[in-house]
Amino acid sequence: MIQFLSLKKINAKYADELKAACARVIDSGYFILGPELQRFEQAFASFSQAKHCIGLGNGLDALTLILRAWKLQGKIKDGDEVIIQANAYIACVLAITENNLVPVFVEPDANNFNLDPAKIRTAITEKTRVIMPVHLYGRLCEMPEIMAIAAEANLLVLEDASQSHGATLQGKPAGSWGDATGFSFYPSKNLGALADAGAAVTNDDELDKALRALRNYGSFERYNNLYQGVNSRLGEMQAAILSVKLNHFWSEVECRREVAARYLAGITNPAIKLPQWEVREQHTWHLFVVRCSQREALQAHLANHGVESIIHYPKPPYKQQAYEKMNHLSFALNEQLHREVLSIPIDPSMTDEDVETVIEVCNSFSA
Ligand SMILES: *Cc1c(COP(=O)(O)O)cnc(C)c1O
Repeated sequence: MIQFLSLKKINAKYADELKAACARVIDSGYFILGPELQRFEQAFASFSQAKHCIGLGNGLDALTLILRAWKLQGKIKDGDEVIIQANAYIACVLAITENNLVPVFVEPDANNFNLDPAKIRTAITEKTRVIMPVHLYGRLCEMPEIMAIAAEANLLVLEDASQSHGATLQGKPAGSWGDATGFSFYPSKNLGALADAGAAVTNDDELDKALRALRNYGSFERYNNLYQGVNSRLGEMQAAILSVKLNHFWSEVECRREVAARYLAGITNPAIKLPQWEVREQHTWHLFVVRCSQREALQAHLANHGVESIIHYPKPPYKQQAYEKMNHLSFALNEQLHREVLSIPIDPSMTDEDVETVIEVCNSFSA
């Protein structure tokens, strides 16, 4: 069986370093808000070309707390609108609605699955305050255009880079474009911890301060609480683990890019539509998502030949039971994408033989 992603194999490569990092934390006696977190925050801020990085409990909290901080700062208020692509992950929408803000969905770009700048302009109303580009599957959205629209309409930009750490356009990586960015370090992400973990990055000193307080019960200094905050801190153990993983990040991405290049050259079945890759640095290949009008048959064919695949995602957020009041919404193109997308294995620990097998099995599929 060719696994979709083997976290065991990925982490086994660095097992000695990871265990040494854990031992260092145990021996240090610091477990929360200590030197490992500070070290990782500095390294990740510089990796993302941002002034500040705030380590948080997970990616959902990063998005939720950034929006919450903007509310506390008076930059946005209840009922304001956030423009987001209709194929966004559920966590993005949860962050918006948790803050009593209104998600305004727009059709994604069918070629690259991301926020389509052309669709943003027509969605702007007098209530729009935020644009939320979600860099899906490892590919950075068209940020130069999105930032130009935001500047024109005086809107805040919140990037969700949970799937696209390090993806770059014009030399600027995810996290360096918008007013603030949320990252997830969930174990299966390209930069993955060994538990839940996340971070926010920003160049804004005031936002940095607010987020540091919010993650720690709303407290700027011990036992003095300015906000009704939460507990969402990135622990020392995960920070130490992430520092190890960050050092090996680019070699992992290079492996992913190699697999992607081989798929793009080798999969020639006309029933399978391949993803776009025009600008090398723009894509870090968190997922390799193909489209197929006979998606269920393709997935069964892959499974019958020992290749695991996953659907990202089977149902759009506005069709979820959790959002019953949005269930009437309909985006034809987006719903077609949800019927057709299939993610095939892309894993830095895949062997040449694995990649060859996936290519052969894809090419032997007949619709
Ligand atoms: C994983 C993910 C999140 C949520 O991250 P968690 O750490 O699981 O909370 C948010 N947005 C996107 C696009 C993701 O892929």
